[in-house]
Amino acid sequence: MRVAIFSTKPYDRAALDAANAHGLHSPTYFEPRLDATTASLAKGFAAVCVFVNDRVDAAAIRILADGGTRVIALRCAGFNNVDLTAAEERGIEVVRVPAYSPYAVAEFTIGLLLSLNRKIHHAYARVREDNFSLDGLLGHDMHGKTVGVVGTGRIGMLVARALKLGFGCDVLACDVVEDAALVDIGVRYVTMRALVEASDVISLHCPLTRDTLHLIDTAALAASKPGMLLINTSRGALVDTPALITALKSGQLGGVALDVYEQEEALFFEDLSLDVVQDDVFQRLLTFPNVLVTGHQAFFTAEAMASIAQTTLNSLSEADTGRALSCRIAAPAQITTE
Ligand code: NAD
Repeated sequence: MRVAIFSTKPYDRAALDAANAHGLHSPTYFEPRLDATTASLAKGFAAVCVFVNDRVDAAAIRILADGGTRVIALRCAGFNNVDLTAAEERGIEVVRVPAYSPYAVAEFTIGLLLSLNRKIHHAYARVREDNFSLDGLLGHDMHGKTVGVVGTGRIGMLVARALKLGFGCDVLACDVVEDAALVDIGVRYVTMRALVEASDVISLHCPLTRDTLHLIDTAALAASKPGMLLINTSRGALVDTPALITALKSGQLGGVALDVYEQEEALFFEDLSLDVVQDDVFQRLLTFPNVLVTGHQAFFTAEAMASIAQTTLNSLSEADTGRALSCRIAAPAQITTE
C-alpha cells in the first residue's frame, strides 16, 4: 500500500523500514507534521501514517479524502489529535497501535518518579561540576508512601504493580473499570477526590477525554496533600499548567515530572536549542528546581519502536487486502485537540 509517513524522524524511518524489509508496502517519508497546510502532500496515497502531534482535524481530513486517502494509521496509542467524526463522515478508517510496550512507558514513569523524589538529575549535574555537596538533595523513602494511580489500563496497571509489589507503597487507584488482579494484590480503588486527598504521589495514566481534560486543576491541587509529587506521562492536557505553576510557587505542590505538556506540539521532538522559545508558561515551568520535564520520550525504546512499526504495517496490510481492521478506532470518545 502507498503510505505517506508524516512527522518522520530518522528513528521512525529505521523502524518502519526494518518492519517493511519484505517490501510489502511503499512508504514515502515526509518530515513535516500533518495538518491542513501539509495534507495535500498525501494526494494519491491510500494511507497516511501520523504521530501524536500531527493535527488531523476536519480540515486536514477533507483534503486527505479529496486526495484519495482511505486509511489514517496512528503510530501511537492516544488518538485525541484525530477528528474521528470527520474521518467517519469522509469514509476514512482510523487505526492506531493500542498496545506496543506498556513496559516502556511504565518503566519511564518509575524513573521520573525516582529522579524527582531523589533529585538524581540535580545530583548528576552537580557531580559533573565537582560539587559533591548533598545539601538540598534530601528525598523520601517511597516505601510506605501512598501513591495514587489514575487509570489502571495497560500502563497504569504496571506502574501500580511495581509500586505496590516492588516498593511497598500503599497504592490507591481510580478508573472507570476496576482491575481485579490489582485488587487481589492490595490496590484499593477509590474516587478521584479520595485519591487526590490521600496521595503523596499522583501518577496519571488515563486517556485525554472530555471528562479528563484538566483533571488536575486548581481545585484538585488545593485538595491535594501539601508537598504532593505529580507525574504525568499520559497526555499534557490532563493538567492545567498555569494552575500547576501557582501550586509550585506556593509550595502546595512538592514537585512535578512531566513527559507530556499541553502545548507540546510547538516544542517537542525538535531541536530548539538555538531558538527563542515563545511559550512563557513552559519557560516558567522550567525555572522551578522541583520540575523535571522530558520531551515525550516515555515510549521510546527499541522494543516499542519495533512493535509500533510492525502493528502499523499489519494494519496497512489488513486495509490493503480488505480484511477487518484489528486496530480500528471504533467510537469518537476522545476530544479532537489537545
Ligand atoms: P489504556 O487504554 O490501556 O488504559 C487507560 C485506562 O484509563 C483504562 O483503564 C480506562 O478505563 C481508564 N480511564 C478512562 N477514563 C478514565 C477516567 N475518567 N478516570 C480514570 N481512568 C480512566 O491505555 P494505556 O496504554 O495504559 O495508555 C495510557 C495513556 O498513556 C494513553 O492515554 C496515552 O495517551 C499515554 N501514553 C503516553 C506515552 C508516552 O510516550 N508518554 C506512550 C503511550 C501512551
